[in-house]
Amino acid sequence: MSTQARYKKSDWQDWKWQLKNSINTIEQLEDITGIELEKDEKEELKETVDQFPLSITPYYLSLIDVKDFRDDPVYKQAIPGVHELVIEKGDMEDPLSEDSDSPVPGITHRYPDRVLFHISNVCSMYCRHCTRKRKVGDVDHIPNKDILLEGIAYIKEHPQVRDVLLSGGDPLMLDDDYLDWVLTQIRAIPHVEVIRIGTRMPVVLPYRITDELVDMIKKHHPVWINTHFNHPKEFTNASKRALAKLADGGIPLGNQSVLLAGVNDCPRIMKKLVHTLVKNRVRPYYLYQCDLSEGLTHFRTPVGKGIEIMESLIGHTSGFAVPTYVIDAPGGGGKIPVMPNYIVSWSTNKVVLRNYEGVITTYKEPDSYESIFCDRKCNDCKLPLKLDEGQEFEAVGVTKLLSDYDKSISLIPEDNARHQLRESYEDNE
Ligand SMILES: *Cc1c(COP(=O)(O)O)cnc(C)c1O
Repeated sequence: MSTQARYKKSDWQDWKWQLKNSINTIEQLEDITGIELEKDEKEELKETVDQFPLSITPYYLSLIDVKDFRDDPVYKQAIPGVHELVIEKGDMEDPLSEDSDSPVPGITHRYPDRVLFHISNVCSMYCRHCTRKRKVGDVDHIPNKDILLEGIAYIKEHPQVRDVLLSGGDPLMLDDDYLDWVLTQIRAIPHVEVIRIGTRMPVVLPYRITDELVDMIKKHHPVWINTHFNHPKEFTNASKRALAKLADGGIPLGNQSVLLAGVNDCPRIMKKLVHTLVKNRVRPYYLYQCDLSEGLTHFRTPVGKGIEIMESLIGHTSGFAVPTYVIDAPGGGGKIPVMPNYIVSWSTNKVVLRNYEGVITTYKEPDSYESIFCDRKCNDCKLPLKLDEGQEFEAVGVTKLLSDYDKSISLIPEDNARHQLRESYEDNE
């Protein structure tokens, strides 16, 4: 009998029932699926679960092909493996330095105009490839209003924050009323233009997407949702219905996949995945290179695999079906896009490019381009672009080097030895 057939349909489709009946031990896994693991392996897996807890919804569990479970993409994402306790040189507890970039509990403020706001410490399924693995199962609760109000106060005090990204854990672990309260608080902040929710519910617990939830979210538009499908197998009638409800609610949908060895590190799987996403009105947003978090060694691919996948997508399929492949810089540098090279060469007035078919072509640049000198005096500018100066912030990074109004000619790491040496000469003068 299939896992699903054992239960009443009304229970099965009730998201709270699914949470209450989540599978948390290897014994339950064996009992429910009929999978039998070797005794030694079982012992090792129990050890893994002690360090990195196991939690999987009956729904997501039911997607596993029990006859061929070891190669199953759902099994690999949900059930611990013995490799998780292997920590390699270069692995990091908090590779993205989220804790260091956190001014108040729950907020990670890394980019100039947007913040990550962790409003839940729990998920309905613990992904084995979680980048926040260090935290999984730590504080098994949803923060109370007093704690969330600290984050909300931070956003209020920072007028540059125009985009608030609710993350976690999974923000949809909050019940509708509590989430409504959070969204109301954030929507009341005049400088917040968009709210985003990052959730894996459409994939691991699609019954969470109820009509009531969508009606509530709609009140707070513009709200965008990013979800996390990694394999075409994760599409079921239930997940498609969940996506349709969200899209019908006017919520723009995106998808963030993680490139995982043995799960989706193949151009054919990825092409099928992005096609299924767009058919369901979800725009592939990011494809992440697997992070350097501890316990993820067995999931990591070389960067070349990601580039190969991008090569197979760009030009070969619809532009809006192509995600941006990113490496989240260790140490908190943020996401860095990575692509195959399309520029073959460049002279002062010609660019030589190649396309996806291998055709090499030239683009002739203008001989007389009159660049407009920019000193940020927008009111005197010839361009039909009048910005309030109050909205302008200091240019940073390479943008600063490109600008006319900033005289910097280089960006130098703080601990650059040559510069430290120079400074020491100056000190001696
Ligand atoms: C990913 C991320 C964001 C959002 O980045 P986008 O590129 O705008 O999607 C914001 N803050 C942090 C800390 C992030 O890791």
